[in-house]
Amino acid sequence: MNLNDIKNLNKTHNSTDKMPVLFVGHGSPMNAIEENEFSAGWRKAGESLPKPSMILCVSAHWETDGTFVTAVPKPETIHDFYGFPKELFAVQYPAPGNPGMAKEISDEIKSTDVGLDEKWGLDHGAWSVIKHMYPNADVPVVQFSIDRRKGPNYHYELAKELSFLRRKGVLIVGSGNMIHNLRVIAWNKMNESEYGYDWAHEADFKLKNIINGGDFKELVNYSKQGGEMEMAVPTPEHFIPLLYTLGLKEETDQLSWFNDKLVLGSISMASLLIG
Ligand code: ZN
Repeated sequence: MNLNDIKNLNKTHNSTDKMPVLFVGHGSPMNAIEENEFSAGWRKAGESLPKPSMILCVSAHWETDGTFVTAVPKPETIHDFYGFPKELFAVQYPAPGNPGMAKEISDEIKSTDVGLDEKWGLDHGAWSVIKHMYPNADVPVVQFSIDRRKGPNYHYELAKELSFLRRKGVLIVGSGNMIHNLRVIAWNKMNESEYGYDWAHEADFKLKNIINGGDFKELVNYSKQGGEMEMAVPTPEHFIPLLYTLGLKEETDQLSWFNDKLVLGSISMASLLIG
C-alpha cells in the first residue's frame, strides 16, 4: 500500500483495524516552517492516514536514563536547538497530551518500568513534523523516551509491547534520521535539493535492502555492518526511532517509502510508512 492508495480509505478509524506505523526523517528544524518537498510529504501523509486518536512519538531528541512517557495535559513546545531564526523559536504547537493513555502505556509494558514524566513537552523531533501532518493541533501527542543506556535490541524488542496501541487508533511515529552525521555536513550543498556522499549512498542502499528484505535483526546489529554504516550512524539516537517503527511491523504490513532523499551529504530524509 502506498500513500496514494490509502488516500481513498475511510478516514474514520474503525476499532478493529490497526493503524499504520510511521518513521519520519526530520532533518533540520527549519523544516518546521519551510514549505518544501519534505514538509509537503508529511502533510500528504497526515491527509492520507485515518485520523488517529492519539500520536505516540519516539523522538531522537528525548534521551533519558530509563524509559519514560509524557503525562502532561498541555505539553509545552520545546525549542531544543540554537542559532536558528526568531521565527522558528516563535512556533507553538498546542496539541494536547493524554495522561490517561500515558498511564495505560506504563501499565501495559511489562518488560521494564515506564515512568510517567511531567516535565518534558514536545521537542522539535515531534512538533516540527507533526505540525505539518496535523496543522490544527487537534490530535493529542504523547512522547516516549529513548533509554540512552540501552542497546539497539532493547529498543527493537520494547517496540513490540507498544503494538496494542495500533488497535486503539494510535499512530506511533518514530522521528529521527536513518543516516545522520552532523560532523561532515556538506554546507556547500545547502542549495541543492539532493546530495549524498558516496558512503551515504552505499549506506542508504544497504539499509533499504535490509529493511525491504524484512530481516530487521541485521539492523539491530548495525554497528557490525562496516565502514559506511559507521559514518551513517556515528551515534545511535537518530537511528533508534527507526528500530521502534520496524519493531512494530506485523507480517501482513506493507512498506512504503517517501521523502526518500539524501541531503547535505550525510543526512537521509527517508520516511517509511508501515501498514
Ligand atoms: Zn534531529
